[in-house]
Amino acid sequence: MFPETRMRRLRYGNLLRDFLSETRINEEKMVMPVFIDENIRKRKPIESMPGIFRQGTGDYLSYIQGLADMGVKSILLFGIPSSKDSSGTSAFQSNGVIQRAIKDVKASTEITIIADLCLCEYTDTGQCGLMKGHYVDNDSTLVAYRKIARTYAEAGTDIVAPSGMMDGQVAAIRDELEKSGFSNTLIMGYSAKYASGLYGPFREAADSAPQVGDRRSYQMDYRNSREALRELKLDMEEGADILMVKPALFYLDVLREARLSFTLPMAAYSVSGEYTMIRNAVDQGFLSKDVIAESISSIFRAGADIVISYFTEYILSGGLEEQ
Ligand SMILES: [Zn+2]
Repeated sequence: MFPETRMRRLRYGNLLRDFLSETRINEEKMVMPVFIDENIRKRKPIESMPGIFRQGTGDYLSYIQGLADMGVKSILLFGIPSSKDSSGTSAFQSNGVIQRAIKDVKASTEITIIADLCLCEYTDTGQCGLMKGHYVDNDSTLVAYRKIARTYAEAGTDIVAPSGMMDGQVAAIRDELEKSGFSNTLIMGYSAKYASGLYGPFREAADSAPQVGDRRSYQMDYRNSREALRELKLDMEEGADILMVKPALFYLDVLREARLSFTLPMAAYSVSGEYTMIRNAVDQGFLSKDVIAESISSIFRAGADIVISYFTEYILSGGLEEQ
């Protein structure tokens, strides 16, 4: 009907295209995951994730200050402790690897801290919960999660992010935070967390591969999407402040549904395997690096308010603009 529309579109310059674009990569809403390894002083590269390191005890603080200086507004902290046992004891000590990092980072930057809350880096089984025989025991695990949440809050974290997918974990943590006087500490629920093959590189990064069994009994089946809405609803009702879908790229339909169904801020976690696929293909010249912006934009376009991505540092440091 309006044949000239097509002609005009052809004449759009880049500036006009930017002006009319419906979505942009919102750098202020991007979160950089950071691994802190208590066993090393200096950072070590993670083989399968080029450009990503486990930070050592001697250099994590300057690394995080560097992130803040380049404009990164938020980090998601994971710890690798120097000792593991069947109770995950090192996860809930006031001088634990993450508790100390929270205090140090809060004392020296304005960056928002999200502290991942789970046991899989801290148990010798590599499971997200405490074992009773061959099974993960939900209720004793919740007792441990409460202790972790309290010590994180005491250290000064802004947000705790329970990722273990135990039943009732958000309610238990909310209750613990209220009781111990931390009603301003927020909870980001890993609400819809799928049992995904895309977590492989993370398990190398966080030294958290399950030593016995797997996690399919408490993570979601990738063939299901309505189940995700049930999990999201439960987390909301239990008192989560931010909901999450994880992974992101293979689950954009779930993210979209979640965005349309809930009014809470929605986070999407673009996981290690997504980074690995794209980063290695770009590094080897098989894909143009434009796919980095394309992939992150697709997550915002699907409805994410907050995007957790290993590309955060790359993007904020100007990696997309370099020739
Ligand atoms: Zn876990």
